[in-house]
Amino acid sequence: MDDDLTPIRRQYLEIKEKYPHALLFFRLGDFYETFDADAETASRELDIVLTSRNVAKGSRIPMAGIPYHAAETYIGRLIQRGYHVAVCDQVGEPINGLMPRRVTRVITPGTVVEPGMLSPTRNNYLACPVVQGRRIAVAFVDITTGEFRVTEFETDDAVHAVREELTRLGPAEVLLPEGADFYPEGPGARTAWPVWRFEAGRCEQALLHHFESASLEGFGLAKRSAAVCAAGVLLQYLQETQPAALEIIREIGTYSRSEFMILDPATRRGLELTETLRTGDEKGSLLGVLDLTVTPMGGRLLRQWILQPLLDLGKIHMRQAEVQAFFDAGLSRTAFRQSLHGLDDLERLANRIGSGNAVPRDLAALRDSISNLPKVAEAIDGLTIEKGQALRAPDLCADLLDLLHQALPDDPPATLSQTGVIRPLYSEELDRVVEGAREAREWIAGLETKEKSRTGIKTLRVGYNKIFGYYIEVSRGQVQSVPENYIRKQTLVNGERYITPEMKEYETRVLSAEEQIREIESRLFRDLCTRIGARRNLLLETARIIAELDCVSALAEVAGKHDYVRPEVVEEEVLDIREGRHPVVERFLSGERFVPNDLTLEEGEIIRVITGPNMSGKSTYLRQAALLCLMAQIGSFVPAHSAKVGLVDRIFTRIGAQDEIHAGQSTFMVEMVETANILHHATGRSLLIFDEVGRGTSTYDGVSIAWAMIEFIHNHPRLRARTLFATHYHELIRLASMLPGVRNYNVSVAEERGTVVFLHRIVPGGADRSYGIHVAQMAGMPRPTIARAKEILGELESGAGGGKIEMGQPAQLQLFADATPLMDELNALDLSSMTPLEALSKLFSWQKKYGSRS
Ligand code: ADP
Ligand code: MG
Repeated sequence: MDDDLTPIRRQYLEIKEKYPHALLFFRLGDFYETFDADAETASRELDIVLTSRNVAKGSRIPMAGIPYHAAETYIGRLIQRGYHVAVCDQVGEPINGLMPRRVTRVITPGTVVEPGMLSPTRNNYLACPVVQGRRIAVAFVDITTGEFRVTEFETDDAVHAVREELTRLGPAEVLLPEGADFYPEGPGARTAWPVWRFEAGRCEQALLHHFESASLEGFGLAKRSAAVCAAGVLLQYLQETQPAALEIIREIGTYSRSEFMILDPATRRGLELTETLRTGDEKGSLLGVLDLTVTPMGGRLLRQWILQPLLDLGKIHMRQAEVQAFFDAGLSRTAFRQSLHGLDDLERLANRIGSGNAVPRDLAALRDSISNLPKVAEAIDGLTIEKGQALRAPDLCADLLDLLHQALPDDPPATLSQTGVIRPLYSEELDRVVEGAREAREWIAGLETKEKSRTGIKTLRVGYNKIFGYYIEVSRGQVQSVPENYIRKQTLVNGERYITPEMKEYETRVLSAEEQIREIESRLFRDLCTRIGARRNLLLETARIIAELDCVSALAEVAGKHDYVRPEVVEEEVLDIREGRHPVVERFLSGERFVPNDLTLEEGEIIRVITGPNMSGKSTYLRQAALLCLMAQIGSFVPAHSAKVGLVDRIFTRIGAQDEIHAGQSTFMVEMVETANILHHATGRSLLIFDEVGRGTSTYDGVSIAWAMIEFIHNHPRLRARTLFATHYHELIRLASMLPGVRNYNVSVAEERGTVVFLHRIVPGGADRSYGIHVAQMAGMPRPTIARAKEILGELESGAGGGKIEMGQPAQLQLFADATPLMDELNALDLSSMTPLEALSKLFSWQKKYGSRS
């Protein structure tokens, strides 16, 4: 390092060297400064001024800074754009004029704790996938809630399995070994970490050390080397970035993917479970419809429930029973939900307090939440909900509540930088200092009157400014009357300012008392947090129960409001839905009423092929079936007259190119990759939804692929899964006469005097017409175009022998066959020598010649 550098520059470079991948926020007085390339990035991303600073003789470097109190907002923005921020604070007293500084935490998307940077209703997961040959593990942690879990399983297709699991989680950040290629796409900001961090021994040590345990046996992790690595890497990463967060991670849970229905990314997207395809909004998704939860922890849990429907009948029935209890007791439900409004985010509060990140307002929020718990318990008193028992314990958290009432004022300041954090009478020591400060302040307040009468100077005034502190001001005409003990400090145009030693002494008392108060208060506050943190498990358990009850009562509320029924969920592979409705579409129809449809698979029926015109309701029917099964397995009631659902192990959906065009995923290749995945992974227990598969290619290819798929599903002994197949290829209707498990259905259409009405009703039989021209008309195509299209259609139909266009005689070919003379003329044109006007007149003549032929 250059010897000419200023000491502070040298300090900066030493620290920065350890955090090459993060933007270093370097505390300088009231600012966090960034330097060099970091400053350029910060200035660009945050739109702040780029200045420069002298660091050695004749050497200036770029610098950009933000006021320390606004750091949260700025850091939030950087994190959102995928940057990491290392926060370097001043610690202790200056040594030889240089403030010691240390990085106190590194903020990354997965390690954020600031409430302002988090979504209240989403978990903020940091995840780590590990691939060891066929064995895969995924570990994840949410340091705002303390949840830490890991799973390990075998697979042939690591890329697929990793993406599937991470899509379910939706992590904010994913840790990957440098150079890893097994997670090319999917949610979460990627952080590449050195490969040595993933070494088995190091990871095992990290786990054993953290949990102060001698063996991994007790965690269910013995011989699970992939899982140990994944979890160990997360602990190491937290050690580096947020050591305080380790404090709140008290346990690790393993989970098995076989506990939950697997939803691959395409299905999750296609069914619009948590966000819509088009806009990515929660509104318009299944979650948007079901999420009537009141508390943030309830909101987070419901999202988890929707993304991991249950496979265990017992658990499903238990949730159903709880929903039923709330469903039946409308009044209690309302009272309960009302009472939840009095609760803050208990889970995150408990963890912020436990990990030393809390501010005084957090404790007040905890106090208010705890004092509302009895009301919550009371509201469910009459209900038979076993879980509620825990809330009814009369002295639940009562000791904490007492403590908080005694220690905190009603409305404490937001941060520790202000005084008034602790209530009087809580600490004698504090009260003494506060009393001393009050006395001193009173003495100063009385000084003006006292001095006026002592000196007889009417214009005497006591004032305060930042430079001199307190002073006594006397106007020019009276200066001769000032007493001996006044010391002149400043001369003004029309007067003089003085101080007295006594006054300065009181001033010092006031100022030092404030310093002392802050010091004592923050000590008492930390102590309070430690005592509450010790009861963290109780608080978390309470939060967990409330979250669950919040979810089931929300599901009951939806069911009550929108006329849902309790589905019968059974082991057998049945599907019998009477008058089912699409939970989202039925809510967003304007004017029209939603037409309910049955979906009763008969004995022996495996595949239902649904034909019908565009816009008639095929896609809606398909998705409705999938959503109802899914809802049944999260324990929810369903929009139907009645429903019997056999457990589904996975829902697979393949939604045609056109329907997904907005997601920018319209290539035929994507479609085929996903279809292949379904055919490889589905089981007899799965539910398969195919919507217009093959649309992304030519008609021949499309029909052939669809045809072969249906045969495959129908005949493969592993598959024979419940399948719904919507298509506009009428050719597929023929399959029903060849394969016993295939049935045809279509969407009924009413025709009246040339206009067509879609009835949205699914009825047995194949459709015979496609009504595409009708849809074009609805879409507002110019009238002459519609008329002309009708003519052409009539011609084609009669040309093809009346009725359907058979395979082998596709419409396009016919059109071109008819148009051969036109093609010849077209080919004969020399475009390079034509003027636009000539071209136009040529078109005009063609229109006359060919345009009105029939
Ligand atoms: P398709 O897949 O056949 O092209 P969609 O399922 O996309 O048709 O439905 C088109 C529109 O028709 C939907 O957006 C909705 O407005 C309406 N629709 C569909 N099903 C129903 C129904 N059962 N009742 C009322 N309206 C429906
Ligand atoms: Mg459709």
